[in-house]
Amino acid sequence: MRKKIIAGNWKMNMTPSESVALVNELKPLVANEEVDVVFCVPAIDIIPVVEAAKGSNIQVGAENMYYEEKGAYTGEISPAMLTDAGVKYVVLGHSERREYFAETNETVNKKMLKAFEHGITPIMCCGETLEQREQGVTMDFIRQQVKVGFMGVTADQAKTAVIAYEPIWAIGTGKTATTEQAQEVCKGIRECIAEVYDEATAEAIRIQYGGSVNAATAPELFAQPDIDGGLVGGASLKPDFGKIVNYK
Ligand code: PGA
Repeated sequence: MRKKIIAGNWKMNMTPSESVALVNELKPLVANEEVDVVFCVPAIDIIPVVEAAKGSNIQVGAENMYYEEKGAYTGEISPAMLTDAGVKYVVLGHSERREYFAETNETVNKKMLKAFEHGITPIMCCGETLEQREQGVTMDFIRQQVKVGFMGVTADQAKTAVIAYEPIWAIGTGKTATTEQAQEVCKGIRECIAEVYDEATAEAIRIQYGGSVNAATAPELFAQPDIDGGLVGGASLKPDFGKIVNYK
């Protein structure tokens, strides 16, 4: 049985002082030991959020990181900086980073390898545009994202990874994919992992759905056999996140 993982993706929201207030507000609401609860927060919020989350079930993630160890990469954050600050997870290849910050399957792959090397669990995002869905190439596109993203990743590492399926047309739009659409693609991703690795790896890896998840849609989505939780944007900044974490 895979443990559900429900992660908030704060994106570029919350100043350090706001971040502490939000953690203090949400802490009692997300106290559900049956699921893994992760707050993925802006780099500058990591240290105050780790501090504010002490003694709770909240684990802290970053929203991005660089794939080099250290050196002349002005503005970047290294994996060692993240682990030293208490980070356990990192979101990689979010569609917003692919769209606005030139992230590619290849750079995502380099970051995946680095994350594993440092014991950080990647939450690797994939997902199609509306145009791709209408053209019927959704699964081809996502299989490519997953296969390249996992190049050189061992089966043992892949078993611990998280993949977030986020249809781009559903992100921040209020348009959640239907339960059937989300389940179908998450199942397809699991089949892809089985092909690349084996059944045991496919059974172990956790696959989230993301894209306008809210307290109303979470229960049905998370009840699907291949959906192991969610990556939640907008609703992770509100008390609603507590309801999503306690979706049952
Ligand atoms: P949303 O964002 O829940 O606001 O649609 C999800 C995400 O981008 O991770």
